[in-house]
Amino acid sequence: MLRNDQLDQWDRDHFFHPSTHLAQFSRGEAPNRIVSGGEGSFITDRDGRRLLDGFAGLYCVNVGYGRTQIAEAIAKQAHELAYYHSYAGHGTEASITLSKMVADRAPEGMNHIYYGLSGSDANETNIKLVWYYNNVLERPEKKKIISRKRGYHGSGLMSGSLTGLGLFHRQFDLPFPQVLHTESPYYYRRPDEAMSEADFTAHCVAELEAMIEREGAGTIAAFIGEPVLGTGGIVPPPEGYWPAIQEVLARHDILLIADEVVTGFGRLGTMFGSDHFGIRPDIITIAKGLTSAYAPLSGSIVSDKVWKILEQGTDALGVFGHGWTYSAHPIGAAAGVANLTLLDELGLVENAGTVGAYLTRKMKAAIGDHPNVGEVRGEGMLCAVEIVEDRAQRRPFDPSRKAGPSIVARMLEHGVIARAMPEGDIIGYAPPLCLTEAEADQIVAATKTAVEEVCAGL
Ligand code: PMP
Repeated sequence: MLRNDQLDQWDRDHFFHPSTHLAQFSRGEAPNRIVSGGEGSFITDRDGRRLLDGFAGLYCVNVGYGRTQIAEAIAKQAHELAYYHSYAGHGTEASITLSKMVADRAPEGMNHIYYGLSGSDANETNIKLVWYYNNVLERPEKKKIISRKRGYHGSGLMSGSLTGLGLFHRQFDLPFPQVLHTESPYYYRRPDEAMSEADFTAHCVAELEAMIEREGAGTIAAFIGEPVLGTGGIVPPPEGYWPAIQEVLARHDILLIADEVVTGFGRLGTMFGSDHFGIRPDIITIAKGLTSAYAPLSGSIVSDKVWKILEQGTDALGVFGHGWTYSAHPIGAAAGVANLTLLDELGLVENAGTVGAYLTRKMKAAIGDHPNVGEVRGEGMLCAVEIVEDRAQRRPFDPSRKAGPSIVARMLEHGVIARAMPEGDIIGYAPPLCLTEAEADQIVAATKTAVEEVCAGL
């Protein structure tokens, strides 16, 4: 086995890490962590530390670490057939079985699955599907996409444009002009303190209507949103939001893409977030929980309504000209089949609902009254704590004070991983769906200690 100091040097000299301060990392000023193992909700690192992973990697290891059933399915597939492509009607037993399993679990009328490798590439595919759809329908002007401020849809060129966070735009000449960002359904940051949740929903809907009016419905192809805002701050929608938004979209013949990369496969205590909120999307983005990240795999679940037009398109235009070498990679597909089987066998969707609600309830009880806690919110196995300087005014700390990142760093010293969300001092939790109540208690205890310790010094 390589020595830790050797790995550390190679890491700093050669490994270009995503979402990292490159200069500080090269100079050795930012820490690295070399992760070596995992079991259930815990990971271990090369320094011998065992940490409770309150973010399931990047909200993706839904069934938890160390599941031999999935590892064995991957190994079996690699031995039998590591790869074949899926162009021109080719497939494997794993890719076909997985498609049937996903269709069986998807909302009604959603029966066709296109595969990619990441949430980002799935959203690239989705926009191409939507543009193609309108080309077939001879509506070449109907191409703009409405996304939301604080939405997160990936880091590609189009998917990064759909994302509504400045960090992902400023450095890269994004967003593309075809993308518009409407109001974020973020009740805590409502424009007027006096608004009720229902008022705020009406405000979001009015903003959307005004945008459609301004641009012309004939220019707008689709709306994309996460059932619960994820990377933008783990924000459940205000009361009545999705039905009201859907009504507007239907009226203007605008397709709805539900980005369920985080919420798909159980995280909200239902198989899909669309089931949880009564959303009826035209396309659903899936990734993360599809394989619990045991292998990279993503997908676009396409409704029968859209599928019919795609079929019509190929009759008119010929072969569908969009493909990735690794679409429906057999190893990813085998991991997906084993993962979805395990999800059912262990009853993890139900566990996510009950233990997730327990986590948020306990978090509220433990720190909900702390003067620097603006809000504790959650939905299913997602929870967030928003830290503020002034609770009454909902005034955030200046970002230079690094309140959120400091609390997360302190939590690590207490053995628990949480995530400092990229904008605002928001501490995010998205543990594996197999979390136990005792583990939830451990997350809450580490949070409480860290919030008290760090806020006392700010
Ligand atoms: N959509 C959502 C809702 C996500 O949370 C993410 C990733 N966090 C993505 C898309 C992009 O997925 P990936 O990082 O696999 O490209």
